[in-house]
Formats: sequence, structure tokens, C-alpha cells
Amino acid sequence: PQRLLASSVPEVKNFVGREEELKLLKGNAPVVAVFGIAGIGKSSLVARAFEDAFWYSMDGSESLEYVAWQMALYLNMKGFPELTEYLRAGGRESESIRELVLEGMEETRSIVVFDDLHKCTDEDVESFLRFLSSRVERGKLILISREKPRVDYERVLFIHLRGLKIEESHRLLSLRIPGITLKESVRMHHLTLGHPLLLVLAAEAPGTAGDEDSLFEYLLGEIYDTLDERERLVLQVLALFDEPVELSALRRMTYRNAFLVLYSLLNKSLVERKGESYQVHDLLRAFIRRVSEVDEERYYREYVSYLLEKNTAREFLTAFTYAARLGDERLIAEITELRVRRLWRVALDFPTAYMRLLRGVGSSPYAKKEMARLYFNRGFFERALNLWSEALGGVEGDFHRFDALMMLVDVHCEMGDIESAERIFSELEGIFRRQGQDPYIRLGYYIELTKIRTFRREREKAIESAFKELEAVRNYPEPYPELEALILYHIGYLYVELGELQRALTYYREGLETANAYSLPFMLNLGYLQMGIVHYYLRNFDEAAGNAKKAAEYFLGVRNYRRALDALFRLTVSLMGLGAYEEAEKWAEKMTEITHSTNYPLGWTAYVLIGILRALRGEGGREYLETGLEKIKNNQYLYRGLIEELAVLFDEEDVD
Ligand code: ADP
Repeated sequence: PQRLLASSVPEVKNFVGREEELKLLKGNAPVVAVFGIAGIGKSSLVARAFEDAFWYSMDGSESLEYVAWQMALYLNMKGFPELTEYLRAGGRESESIRELVLEGMEETRSIVVFDDLHKCTDEDVESFLRFLSSRVERGKLILISREKPRVDYERVLFIHLRGLKIEESHRLLSLRIPGITLKESVRMHHLTLGHPLLLVLAAEAPGTAGDEDSLFEYLLGEIYDTLDERERLVLQVLALFDEPVELSALRRMTYRNAFLVLYSLLNKSLVERKGESYQVHDLLRAFIRRVSEVDEERYYREYVSYLLEKNTAREFLTAFTYAARLGDERLIAEITELRVRRLWRVALDFPTAYMRLLRGVGSSPYAKKEMARLYFNRGFFERALNLWSEALGGVEGDFHRFDALMMLVDVHCEMGDIESAERIFSELEGIFRRQGQDPYIRLGYYIELTKIRTFRREREKAIESAFKELEAVRNYPEPYPELEALILYHIGYLYVELGELQRALTYYREGLETANAYSLPFMLNLGYLQMGIVHYYLRNFDEAAGNAKKAAEYFLGVRNYRRALDALFRLTVSLMGLGAYEEAEKWAEKMTEITHSTNYPLGWTAYVLIGILRALRGEGGREYLETGLEKIKNNQYLYRGLIEELAVLFDEEDVD
């Protein structure tokens, strides 16, 4: 089966000693921090103790959302889907993330390892780990670092790892040099102070003199001289990369039978194995890079193209790192084009990690275009607008120009400036006339056309282009089910606006089927919510309540309180229509709870609903009604909306 996780537990071979440390690690302490100098055996020790742990190695590029996604996949596999659901629904609050991770670790009793903590530069990740280390009880958290981690000293068990004991060094050496005398082992032990990596290297270069200034450099030099050409190349290529490299990537960059070469490097302990990937130890990397003669650029390019073929968000981010390192504008243009065409999840799932990479090449117009999109998604419209306008002046080629124009139309629409949106749209139309056969341009054109028509309230024309949009998304080279469902919902919405409720239902249903077929819970529940609305207008209160309830439960579960309120409102009024007053009041109360902590205005209508419900049951309720009306009286939109919604309950004539 394919590995989903960022990294896996390193393989340990010929492990010796460390009995006390292993006992401490496996003991009762819920949080253990292992620290000590490079190569002293921290990772090996922890990997030896916990073979099935979740293992995350920091490399300085991590962000909380990235770590969260990796943990979510792991917890999901262990039977805790809540974090995955939360993230898939677009949840990004660090507080919710850490609570869910904690809950997941406790419930599944997971053992979670963060390696190379000293490389972490992200404050959110650091404070996330501090939180976990102060709270975990039933799960287990292991932190590995070269420095003593700054975490709660009361709760955390610290293990300061030092050199091996003499007898352990002897065992380690005996496994590698059969028949080595105790005397020789003792000599090497004193020379290396029991440092395991040095011992391993010393075993590779026997007969080492004892008076070198830098034993390490000397040892490596000696070993390096004995390597053949192929071993050197594989080692040098591996040393170019900060993260473990997959065998298939290595095969492509070096030799078809790279495995044989790796096998011999593994035996000499020059290379380590993590799952299907290989890496050189940090300590060795610096040395190898110094003596290395390979053409970096060539290998970075090959690696980038290898990663991009994988077509996943995670590999894309790694590829971008190397593309940025090459500083090649053409490559940035190509890679961002690919992101826009195929990897839309990157911008949604890893905005912080992606933003950090983009900033590194911030003067490139292609990077600007991408940064603008990330700002736009977070609601920073002005900033997005400025960046897009700048980018438009710099990008070359129809595709990138079209993309920038498209996003400019979006941002003008969001900001309510329909005139500017229309002006830019006509430019975009020009490109469409020339390049309408390009699936992205075709799709984008109809998306914007529908948007503009919807804004202008030209509903029939909007429906017409929405169907073109639907056709374009269905012919798109990649399946894009989220968008397909969204378009179907939009068509449904336009039919509601036209008063054709039965027709609307057909499209909502079709959207639901798409969401269901591709297991898209967020889109599925968005569909339930909208079906609830239509059924409510049709006075099918039973159906309305059923749909709204499903949606409410989901959105509450993924802590999307804005949507949860929409669903709860629908549920409450539908139950009122059914005469189930007591249950209706219960849900209305839930709404008030949410609004007290989030301040979303819709929740205040719950007071009005409770007031009405009490009155209907002859229990007064006046004060509720007054509180509710007081809260919403300045919000004309909400106020009128509420009256219209309630009218459905009391008016039986106007039904289609
Ligand atoms: P660190 O994580 O502290 O940088 P590692 O765990 O990567 O160090 O250890 C470096 C190398 O030393 C390992 O690849 C392994 O070959 C060797 N090593 C470390 N500890 C032991 C041990 N207890 N027994 C045998 N070999 C060890």
C-alpha cells in the first residue's frame, strides 16, 4: 500500500545497548524529550522503542496546517476521522486543530514522535507542541532535538543522550568487525567518546590513527576514498536534498540499479532508510557537499519534474522549494501554471506553507499572482487586488494573463465594483476568443460569465452560462467534483430565485449525488442545507427538517459555526412547521449558545424564535422576543429575511 505519511519511522539495524533509556521511554511518562548532539543516536533510540509511531521530521519548512494534515491522515487510519473531517471542511483554527489532535491522540492512544525539533522555525508549530506536551495523558509524545526543548519542565521526562558505554561500544564494533579484540574496542571507544555514528564510521575505516585533529573529517575522508564511482555519485546526489528521497527518484537521477549501490551504502552506514526513502545523516551531508562535484542544477530539475508527475499537494510543495532554489523564472511560471490547472488543493490545504515558499521568490510576477490568491482566500481583498494588478504587468503568455484577469474579476465582484469587473471581463473575453479550446480558459470564462450575470440579476442568462460551465467542468482533464457540485448548487439557487422550486430540487439532488460519489462531506452537507431550504419553501417540513438536521450535525462536528447556524435555523423553523415545538426550542437554544461565543448575527434570531415558540405553547416568552428584536433591529437584511422566512409558516396559499 502507498505510504500516505510525510515520513516514517527510520529503520534501525544492529542496534545495541541503551537499555535504561529504552525503559524510560516506554515507561509511564506521557511526554519524553530526548536531546543530545548530532549522531549520538537519538532517532535510532526512539525508532527502536516505537516501531509504529507517527513520525514527523522537522526540516524548517513546516507549518501548523501541514503538520495537522499529516497527523490527521494518521489518526484517521487509527480510527479517529474527526481531524480529517475538520480540515477537509476548510477548518483552520489553531485552537480547534490542537484540541482535535489531542483528542485523537488520547482516544487512539497514539505515540507521536517529532524529530529534529531544533530545525523548526514556525511559532505556531512550537506552541502547538507546547500545548500537547502540557496536556497529553493517555497518548504519548516524544520530542527529539539537539537542544533541550523548551517545554513544561514539570511534566516532561528529559533524556540527555550521551555516548555509549564501553561495553556497548564493544558490542557495536563486534557486529561490524567480527573478532575485534576488547583492547581495540576500548581504544576506539576512547577515541570517539562512545559516539555511535563515529564508531560506525571508524569500523568502516579500520586501523585509524588516534591523533587526528578532526577524527570525523578524517574518518569520512578515509571511507570516501574507498567508495567506487557509483557509490560516490549516489551519495552526492542524496546529499543535495534535505529530505529523504524515494528510491524511484534516485533511480531516475542516477542508475537503474541504484538499489544495489544504496544497499552497499546502507551497509557502510553512510545512508539511512526511512520507509521507501533514503537519506544521508545531517552530519555526513555537510561533508559530502563539500567534496561533491555534481551539477546541482541538473539534479534539482530532474527531481522537480519527478515530484510534479506525482500530482499531489505535498510533492508539489517540495518541488516548489527546489524550483525556488534554482531561481528560474520560467520554471516558476510552469510550476505555478500546473498548480492552477491541477493542484487547487495546495492553496486550500497548505496556504501557510505555500505562502512561505512564495515569499522566497516574491519578486516574480507568477509568485505574486499566487500570493494574491492566498490573500483573496483569506479575505484580504485590497492586498489581493494590488498584487494581481502588479502581476498582470509582468506575466507572459495567455494562460497566466487569463488567470490574473479572472481573479481580478472575482476580487472586483467581491468588493462590489461591478463596473471594473465588467471592464476586465471584456479583456478576458478576448483571450477566450483566441484560446477557447484550452480547458482551463474555457471553464474559467464560463465561471466568470455566470458570476457577472448573477450579479446583474440576469437569471435566465446566468443559468444558460452555468450549464456551459457544467459542461466545461465535466470535460476538464482532471475530475473536479467539488466544482461540479458547486455549479449544480448554483444552478439550483438560480432556479429558486426564479421561483421554480421543483426544478431547483432536481439540480440540488444531482449536486448531492456528485458529492456523494466522490465522498465530499462538506459539499454533501452544503447540499443538504440547500435542499432543506427548498423543502421548507415547499412546506415539506418533514423533509426540510431531515435535511437540515443532517447538515447541522455535520457543521457542528467540523466546527463551522457560521454554516451550522444556517442549518440550525432551518431545522428550528421546519420543526415549528411540524408543530414539534419542544424540539424546535432545544435547537434554537443551541443557536443562542453558538452566537454567545461567536457573535454571528444570525444566531440572535433564535431569541425571536424562542419567544414565538413559548407564546405558541402559552408560556409567555415576551422577554425573549424583545431581546431578539433588539439585537437584530439594526440589521435590516436579517430582519426582513426573518419575516419572510416566518411568513412561509403562516401563509398556506402561496405554494407552488
Ligand atoms: P541522531 O538522531 O542523534 O542524530 P542517529 O540515531 O541518527 O543519531 O544515529 C546515527 C547513527 O549511529 C545511526 O545511523 C546508527 O547507525 C548509529 N547508532 C546510533 N545509536 C546506535 C545504537 N544504540 N546501536 C547501534 N548503532 C547506533
